[in-house]
Amino acid sequence: MASPLRHFFIALSKSPQLQSVIVGFPVSRQAARRFVAGERLEDAIDAIRAINAAGMAATLDFLGEHVDSETEARVNADEYIRALHAIHQAGLDANISIKLTAMGLAVDDEFCYQNVRRIVEAAADLGNFVRIDMEDSPVTDRTIAIYERLRDDFANTGLVLQAYLYRTEGDVRRLMEAGRGHFRLCKGAYDEPPEVAWQEKADVDSNLVKLMTLMLDSRGAYPGVYPALASHDHMIINWTKAYAYTHNISPDRFEFQMLYGIRRDLQQQLADQGYRMRVYIPYGTRWYPYYMRRLAERPANVVFFARAMFGN
Ligand SMILES: Cc1cc2nc3c(=O)[nH]c(=O)nc-3n(C[C@H](O)[C@H](O)[C@H](O)COP(=O)(O)OP(=O)(O)OC[C@H]3O[C@@H](n4cnc5c(N)ncnc54)[C@H](O)[C@@H]3O)c2cc1C
Repeated sequence: MASPLRHFFIALSKSPQLQSVIVGFPVSRQAARRFVAGERLEDAIDAIRAINAAGMAATLDFLGEHVDSETEARVNADEYIRALHAIHQAGLDANISIKLTAMGLAVDDEFCYQNVRRIVEAAADLGNFVRIDMEDSPVTDRTIAIYERLRDDFANTGLVLQAYLYRTEGDVRRLMEAGRGHFRLCKGAYDEPPEVAWQEKADVDSNLVKLMTLMLDSRGAYPGVYPALASHDHMIINWTKAYAYTHNISPDRFEFQMLYGIRRDLQQQLADQGYRMRVYIPYGTRWYPYYMRRLAERPANVVFFARAMFGN
């Protein structure tokens, strides 16, 4: 978690100068395709179709984050509404995942809430679901607050929580008590300081297991709780399967989620074993920060990237 390479790539993910250089190279666009379904909605729909045909569900991410204009934020919301209609028309099994910084959080919280509300309303009309991704810790409180406002009026919303944050156990307990239990639990993808987050993988992993236990055990007290374990970590996935089995928690009470292009073998294996498996499918032209975070997670990806850029 705390490797210098990870810090380096997460820092690069925030560099507009490097972004304009990297995205300009056709070869880097090609390398990013490993993790991104394509630039157009049609590409994403094709990817969902293939995932569905393999027995898995999907969640769609229209790439983009940190917009600071109302116009851009509205365009992003419109694209999600278009995606919801396309999913519906094609009869696909997919929901959507959104980032509040792409929806105008930097403009104003009320504007962002109203913009997201349009998407959630459209999803509700189509019988679909909206997941709010969690971004870095400066926006955690505001993200949870907007989610809770939406959840007051719409049951078809869920939130992502990050196991690397010290605060998350408190958030999980409070949200479950308030009857909001549609969680995606992940380790956390940003570079957080020791004041707010565990730095060592072992600490993050043990908190993830603790939080997953809390959610899986809660079904008596809070029947609406439905956790999604978003991880490619086979140790934690195996632990979850064993825990569910030994505690008589049926596989329809939780799901596994993984990112497009990562551990496809494990995705298929879980689906074939009868577990609910959902694949997170990003698309769009603004793939740079997402791609850099994927490089940060695994040094081997950097080697693939370097080979693509500079040849073998
Ligand atoms: C569906 C989904 C949604 C997510 N949403 C959010 C979110 O809203 N907010 C947020 O902060 N984070 C999010 N994440 C990212 C998450 O926080 C982690 O950064 C990421 O999943 C890597 O952690 P890991 O649990 O897979 O475990 P790790 O310990 O990082 O990895 C375990 C194993 O998984 C494989 N692996 C992991 N990452 C990669 C990679 N990039 N390339 C190739 N192999 C890899 C490797 O085999 C590795 O050994 C999401 C992840 C998923 C799967």
